[in-house]
Amino acid sequence: MIKVGLTGGIGSGKSTVSAILKNNKFKIIDADNIAKEVLEKNPQILDTVRVEFGAGFFDWRGEFRRKEFGNHIFRFPKQRVKYEQIIMPYIKKYIEEELEDYRKKKEKIVILDAPTLIENKMHEEMDYVILVCADNSVQIRRVMERDKLSKVEAVSRINSQMSMEEKKEYANILIDNNGDLENTKKQVDDLMKFLKLVC
Ligand code: ATP
Repeated sequence: MIKVGLTGGIGSGKSTVSAILKNNKFKIIDADNIAKEVLEKNPQILDTVRVEFGAGFFDWRGEFRRKEFGNHIFRFPKQRVKYEQIIMPYIKKYIEEELEDYRKKKEKIVILDAPTLIENKMHEEMDYVILVCADNSVQIRRVMERDKLSKVEAVSRINSQMSMEEKKEYANILIDNNGDLENTKKQVDDLMKFLKLVC
């Protein structure tokens, strides 16, 4: 089974490309969905978060204040690394299980859609790494629009991640998402032809 990592920067268009691949019947493992599932199924993770990050991230009923926590770890990259050290082993285990399920079903190719594929070294397990890229200015504009953020907030989110230039060093396949959606779809069409050839 061929494993393909799909990644990008914030607002670069990874979810857009992933949706096209899914519509074309490619099997996708979505690391963001897995992260949510992992939190629901493993309450001990939030117990650790409470100890490590403080009770302030939980409301009076004990509910996790997800948005406030998300903002906090975006603002302080070291805190994000600390959180990822807690949750990543679970996420990786779930991903491994999904991969195993697909292997048993004799799938020829599976795509792992993960925003921090490279930062968390998951690219090392992949046969190919696709990077969806967009220039900084395009990322900022799209993130401001999509998430209703100020320019300062959008820039700080983008800067908290590994730079696109650095990510390019780990990628085999680049999708340039600076243009319109038609242009991106054409590139994804070519990508799908390639993937069907190699599997
Ligand atoms: P994140 O990792 O932050 O979730 P992402 O890389 O998955 O972001 P998308 O959500 O796919 O990025 O795209 C960001 C925003 O830009 C979305 O609102 C999307 O609809 C829009 N967008 C993506 N590609 C294009 C394009 N080629 N032309 C215009 N808008 C686009």
